[in-house]
Amino acid sequence: MKRIAIYGKGGIGKSTIVSNMAAAYSSHHRVLVIGCDPKADTTRTLYGERLPAVLDVLRENRKPDASEVIHEGFGGVRCVESGGPEPGVGCAGRGVIVAMNLLEKLGVFEEEIDVIIYDVLGDVVCGGFAVPLREEFADEVYIVTSGEYMSLYAANNIARGIRKLRGKLGGVICNCRGIRNEVDIVSEFASRIGSRVIGVVPRSSLVQESEIEAKTVIESFPESEQAEVYRKLADEVYLNTEFVVPEPMDPEEFEEFFRKFRGDD
Ligand code: ADP
Ligand code: SF4
Ligand code: MG
Repeated sequence: MKRIAIYGKGGIGKSTIVSNMAAAYSSHHRVLVIGCDPKADTTRTLYGERLPAVLDVLRENRKPDASEVIHEGFGGVRCVESGGPEPGVGCAGRGVIVAMNLLEKLGVFEEEIDVIIYDVLGDVVCGGFAVPLREEFADEVYIVTSGEYMSLYAANNIARGIRKLRGKLGGVICNCRGIRNEVDIVSEFASRIGSRVIGVVPRSSLVQESEIEAKTVIESFPESEQAEVYRKLADEVYLNTEFVVPEPMDPEEFEEFFRKFRGDD
């Protein structure tokens, strides 16, 4: 079984990448996607609408069965959303812990699954959001970033969290925002933390067009170049054998790295 955790700053494109990778795998594999973001929208494009999240289900029923929290989407992909607390109260990271405990209790991880993908919010790598980094859940981690400062800053913090938990980083995915030298910036970042860029996803309006229909690009535009990009990324990740414990930059080093590229503009 392949167990992958995808981390990155909020809004950077994790869910788009996760859902399209899951759709790509679904043609040959049994796939489970676990959204670990209080936004609970990872699986919307796989399922066709928003799923009831584990925390919401638990508020209604303390002992739900598997069919209440796992829903089948495109290509038979099994979809779960951990969800979040009511706005203003509670801890969002705890939602991930509660969801994982429930899935374990329901025996979901013992079922026949080939690929599990976790989609994890990485603005903070606190105890809750670090759960999928632990070895009992995921074997390998990928960081999604663009070439923008805040996204790289979050990526560097995520690298710190991975190092702390002795996780294995499989690579950095560049989701382009269309800024100058973007792939160079992200490649330099990846090499500074001891890793490499494993995939580059260009900006494409097909992402929005399929999002409106609550579908992945792979479902809506299977013949498009963008769909091919996601399929290639899925393959690269599936076949990847290069993993590192990353070496995050310290704050001064990070500033110096970023200024160097900003100066080139
Ligand atoms: P996250 O899960 O990291 O919060 P999302 O995957 O939801 O981010 O993406 C945030 C927004 O960016 C979405 O509205 C999505 O349509 C858009 N987006 C993501 N990747 C691309 C891309 N490669 N091209 C164009 N728009 C994108
Ligand atoms: Fe919970 Fe993490 Fe937020 Fe703290 S920072 S309240 S642990 S989600
Ligand atoms: Mg998301």
